[in-house]
Amino acid sequence: METDPYRREREEMVEFQVRARGIRNERVLAAMQKIPRHLFVPKNFERAAYEDRPLPIGEGQTISQPYIVAVMTEQLEIRSHDRVLEIGTGSGYQAALLAELAEKVVSVERLAHLADQARENLARAGVSGVEIVVGDGTEGYPPEAPYDAIIVTAASPEIPQPLIDQLGKGGRLVAPIGPRECQDLVKLVKREGRVETIPLGGVCFVPLIGQFGWQGEVSP
Ligand code: SAM
Repeated sequence: METDPYRREREEMVEFQVRARGIRNERVLAAMQKIPRHLFVPKNFERAAYEDRPLPIGEGQTISQPYIVAVMTEQLEIRSHDRVLEIGTGSGYQAALLAELAEKVVSVERLAHLADQARENLARAGVSGVEIVVGDGTEGYPPEAPYDAIIVTAASPEIPQPLIDQLGKGGRLVAPIGPRECQDLVKLVKREGRVETIPLGGVCFVPLIGQFGWQGEVSP
């Protein structure tokens, strides 16, 4: 008996939006096949959950387009024993994928209501192993540092220095960096004594608001 009405949509999402565009990491592809994205969007958007676009999740925020989620996740090069920090929990979908790939996931969300919703979404999806913290993620989360990988899912003018500081040796960080509207996706790798920066292409993310990000709400 079919218990997941969206299994086929999810398969098509993975094949045509993600694999066909060059994502090769089988663990990432398997995680995207497994996690029920439709449980992470508002009920009235459930049927659009596997479409090739971001969707609103309330409070003016979004769940990112599946392909962008895949690119960022692949670039983190997560190993099963890794400790991962996400900044910008939103719906909890990205955190659920990270939990499939890593040993420990901490996700920081600025808006308490979204953090609560994400905890509910994760529970409904049967995902454990994610610690959600309400706070200013531009400061990172020092109690669990250092991290093997850090993903920032909101955009800031520069990479917040506390996140670079909390990245362990050999650690990877992926973040959208640049102006408020659209930005460059950047990967940073912490090598012995230096930090390597790799550009990954253009993206458009909501702003990262906090001490080491944008100051205050966006005015149109
Ligand atoms: N990763 C999310 C998902 O899977 O649904 C999507 C994240 S959404 C594009 C960006 C999120 O970053 C929003 O939920 C927003 O409230 C959050 N955010 C913005 N500034 C933040 C900050 N300083 N610390 C933590 N979260 C922040």
